[in-house]
Amino acid sequence: MKILIINSGSSSIKFQLMDMPSETLICSGLVERIGYQFATINYKTGKTTIQHTHNIENHKQGLRKVVDLLLDKENGVIAKTDEIEVVGHRVVHGGNSFSDTTLITSEVKAKIQQYAALAPLHNPGNLEGILVAEEIFPSAKQVAIFDTAFHQTIPEKAKKYAIPNALYEEHGIQVYGFHGTSHQYVSEKAIAYLKPKATKIITIHLGNGCSMTAVKDGKSIDHTLGFTPSNGLIMGSRSGDIDHAIIFHLVNNLNYTLDEVKTLLTNKSGMLGLTGHMDLRDIQAEAEKGDKDCILALTMNAYRIKKYIGSYAAAMNGLDAIIFTAGIGENSSVIRKMVCEDMDFFGIILDEAKNELRSEGLREINTASSKVKVLVIPTNEELEIAKQAFELLS
Ligand code: ADP
Repeated sequence: MKILIINSGSSSIKFQLMDMPSETLICSGLVERIGYQFATINYKTGKTTIQHTHNIENHKQGLRKVVDLLLDKENGVIAKTDEIEVVGHRVVHGGNSFSDTTLITSEVKAKIQQYAALAPLHNPGNLEGILVAEEIFPSAKQVAIFDTAFHQTIPEKAKKYAIPNALYEEHGIQVYGFHGTSHQYVSEKAIAYLKPKATKIITIHLGNGCSMTAVKDGKSIDHTLGFTPSNGLIMGSRSGDIDHAIIFHLVNNLNYTLDEVKTLLTNKSGMLGLTGHMDLRDIQAEAEKGDKDCILALTMNAYRIKKYIGSYAAAMNGLDAIIFTAGIGENSSVIRKMVCEDMDFFGIILDEAKNELRSEGLREINTASSKVKVLVIPTNEELEIAKQAFELLS
């Protein structure tokens, strides 16, 4: 069964064509920096690697370019679009409606649209991906895999907000959690690698969106993102934790409209708001040149992660491992070093030489004396999606 997996991030589309159940990767790629002047497309098959630069304004244009590559006479991997039997879509917010992988129907699309209010950076892109895929692959089954599903195990003490009960019971205002396929994938890898000593782990997903999960006995028990993907860590353009009374101050005393506040906290804050750059590679390059804003922003970013490590170690009454994953977690030795610095109280001691090494797979970057394992595990949300889509349809 050929399954095309589409993972539309906030500024990227990752795609993989996979044969299941053999888990054979036919091709993969990434459209990066969508919305920027120089978006790039990377496309890789067993025979060739291609990189193009284009002006790609939105997810729809990006996905059309991907399909052109799949069908390309010289470098393509399919002759006709109906060779693809299933398209598996990552969908960020499934609210309380979806705790499992689901076949997409018009009701499912309506729900994804409804939850766009709660995930404005993601659900619209996800839905766009579904609509374009339905047009291009009319005979394929379309399946949605929700980021919120893995976090259904978070207990009430962690998922309820201290606001009147009716808002939870009647309106579903609670922690939902996100990046579930990534946290699930890397935690399962870590548990398999560290067996039997991996009952208390913290997964740290650092991409444009960033989140951490406390995983106890393989289950998500707490998570930094909340009702929407805005809470917790400092992200590419999202503030993460702030005192909510700042919103009242902006509206009541500084004449912001609510829409302006939303844009400010969602699109203009985080690393972008602190430095003028959203891409961590640019921020690291400026910091190396001595830019004070960039140095402070990196320090603030790492400090926020440290605080959540402490908090989740307390929640689990111990810690066996921390896992770094996603674009920044896998590639930025700078952030990993800043996070692990002065954490010996928790039993975390980083091996600086191992931290600098690069490799494709899972790697351990703690010293031999470190009580807590520090792992870098490349996330593979696409494989997790393919597995779940295959399980649903077979
Ligand atoms: P998303 O899927 O949320 O769009 P990714 O997981 O692709 O995000 O991560 C994007 C982030 O990863 C960007 O901030 C980018 O700067 C960062 N990144 C990618 N490669 C590197 C690298 N070599 N060093 C530092 N940061 C990197």
